[in-house]
Amino acid sequence: MKEVGCQRKAGGETLDVYVTPWLEWLRNPFQRPNARRCRPEDLVWQDPVTGTCFGIESHVYDTYLKAVRNWLQTHDDPGLLLSRRFPFGTTDPAILRDAQALVGIALPYPQPMTAQEAIDQLHAASEAGASMQGPLLRTRLGDFLHLRVTLFFALFQPEVNDRWPELRRLLWSDLNPPLAVEDSERLSAVEALLLTGQAPAELRGRRFLFVKGGAVRIKQYYLETADIQIIRGGSRLLDELNGSRLLRWIENLGPERGWIPESVVYSGGGRTLLALPVGARGIDGEPPELAIESLYGRVTITAECAFIAEQAPAEAWTDPHFSEWMSYLETRIVERQMSRPPFFYGEPDDTPDLSHTLNHCNPTPYQLFGGPTRSGSCAFCHFRPAVRRIPRADGDKPACRSCYHRAMAGSSRVKREHQLQIWNEAAPLLGLAMDRAPNPKVPESLVDLGDRIAVVYGDANNLGHYVQNMNTPAKLRYFSDLVDHVTRTAACTALVEQIPDLNFEMIAMAGDDLFFVAPAGNALDAVPTIIERFERALCRYRPGTTSVQHEETMSLSVGVAVGANDQAFLRLQMTADELLKSAKSAKKNGSFEGGTVDFLHLKSSVPYAGRLTDYRLRQRSAQEPGEGGTIFKHLYARPYTASDFQKLLDFIRDIKRFTSSAWIRQLCQAAETMSISAGDLYAAYLTFRDSVREQRAEVVRRLNSLYLIQGKKQRGKILWWSEGEHHYSLWHDVLELWDVLGAASSQETTEVSTATEVAQ
Ligand SMILES: [Zn+2]
Ligand SMILES: [Zn+2]
Repeated sequence: MKEVGCQRKAGGETLDVYVTPWLEWLRNPFQRPNARRCRPEDLVWQDPVTGTCFGIESHVYDTYLKAVRNWLQTHDDPGLLLSRRFPFGTTDPAILRDAQALVGIALPYPQPMTAQEAIDQLHAASEAGASMQGPLLRTRLGDFLHLRVTLFFALFQPEVNDRWPELRRLLWSDLNPPLAVEDSERLSAVEALLLTGQAPAELRGRRFLFVKGGAVRIKQYYLETADIQIIRGGSRLLDELNGSRLLRWIENLGPERGWIPESVVYSGGGRTLLALPVGARGIDGEPPELAIESLYGRVTITAECAFIAEQAPAEAWTDPHFSEWMSYLETRIVERQMSRPPFFYGEPDDTPDLSHTLNHCNPTPYQLFGGPTRSGSCAFCHFRPAVRRIPRADGDKPACRSCYHRAMAGSSRVKREHQLQIWNEAAPLLGLAMDRAPNPKVPESLVDLGDRIAVVYGDANNLGHYVQNMNTPAKLRYFSDLVDHVTRTAACTALVEQIPDLNFEMIAMAGDDLFFVAPAGNALDAVPTIIERFERALCRYRPGTTSVQHEETMSLSVGVAVGANDQAFLRLQMTADELLKSAKSAKKNGSFEGGTVDFLHLKSSVPYAGRLTDYRLRQRSAQEPGEGGTIFKHLYARPYTASDFQKLLDFIRDIKRFTSSAWIRQLCQAAETMSISAGDLYAAYLTFRDSVREQRAEVVRRLNSLYLIQGKKQRGKILWWSEGEHHYSLWHDVLELWDVLGAASSQETTEVSTATEVAQ
């Protein structure tokens, strides 16, 4: 194959290799891109996170490169480019001003090889499970420009202090900035370190400071209260500490103390990594790791965090030293977390001036509300002393400082802007007109979300494996940005589609983590879409000789706890967390494609009180003697793969037109009380009794064409799905979701069943 590949086709127009058009992927990473046959002069490269081989025409590359260079030359503040946006869906200048520059900043850099030059690597990358092709790998132009400034400053700060503002401006002004001789030599050394992975002689002996850490035990911080405004406010505060507020705080400290916005190598998914000059200090001369911990304390009062700092030689920037440094720093963070006593930010409780705490370095300060109080304990966390009163639907409530901060950050006014931001991110990918933003419904409490709500937790599988492969700061920065953005966009688009009036509560979308609350039916429908989009955007498109093949990389697992809106919210949250763990372990132990879903409907009749695995094993499973040994009955078929879960939802909606829940309930009872074989017989009797024979035949026809991919097989019988000696009752799953889902409209269903018939 390689021999053939090295030849040009007759006519010299194309090569026998297909790659993924980068711009098409960028425009909508959730659609399968059309493979494109390479021309010899096309530029091709491999994505260091997913391994996808992308291509772009070289003149198009030049156009975007020129656009970004123009932009840099005419803008003094690179802030827009620093804001870590990945331009999904906004590649069109009609949608976003400066779109060309934003696409340009995401271009692969250094300029990739042509397909002709890279043909051997492309063929090697086309093998299933092929390892990364070193010479093909590229990160983004923006990462290069950013980290060039980071390193220049971290390695040469004391010498360049007096003229840093001008130097920074020059460094951002062009790929080849017009620098004086000495600075130009320094820049060459920095670029050599970035591009070759070797520390040149000029940098030997130079050191910088790694500072790494983040908030820890985040779920505990959220779980202190069931008040939705406070939970959402807490999440918002942590978000700011990863983003806008961190940058403002760094600007306030300034280059003379050793801080610049570019010091942030990456920040997301609960971790921040900075590279600073060794002399960097906080505002009162304290070490940088303590300064940043104290910032977290001021803002959140009670969220725990752990930061550490370590001096490193210039070589620590390169492979393989960088990975070793990262795992060493992680160990130190855990030690710090263990040794650090629970932290409470101490200042007089009645300070009326929040500019030192909640609004400290806050680019958009929060408005104060509520009056002071001195009595009793906080009505939200129930254990800290109250200092303020805050208004709620059922009267003023005393709140401690921590809960008070969160209440202000999570107030309806702030929330409204947040919801619109979500809509703005989703709209271009959904093809919605940007001037048609809805007036978002902002839930004041969970009751506003509807009678039945779902608490949804999601988390990526296999992430650690991919993080380990990010063996340079540029790759890690790109990785963090990509995964963060894909998770956000997948969730935002699915929720906006399901809930056009935006009546949902997106609590956290940080890194690969997802946490939202929505009306139960909508949430269930959004989940398989989110999982599918996450996988599509991050899957590996392998090049090939006739097309491209897609291969799974990371997947998303999700736990959904459904309950009444007045149910103890903490119970729903903890259940969702357990369901997420169950879904993740199904993915880990299974060998199917795609992410997984587990769910539980916490009705008042369900005796569930935590410890999911135990509960299912002891209370929802039974054994009976069989011919070849013991056989096991399980009164559930969960967890599901995302695509099977989608099929289950469609199935339930579909059969609702032919049967009531009474029959399903009878089937469940048969499964619970009878032996496997007796139950099957009784189920057949229930199903084909004369009076209902025709409707039930419709249901059974649909049951028989319900193919699940995860191993459990329906054996032509009605009651049990089997996998070896284990038998599962799908009907209990159906019954749990029965009254949460509406019936399919008959027109939709006709289309679906026609499609099924054609397929068969
Ligand atoms: Zn409190
Ligand atoms: Zn995670």
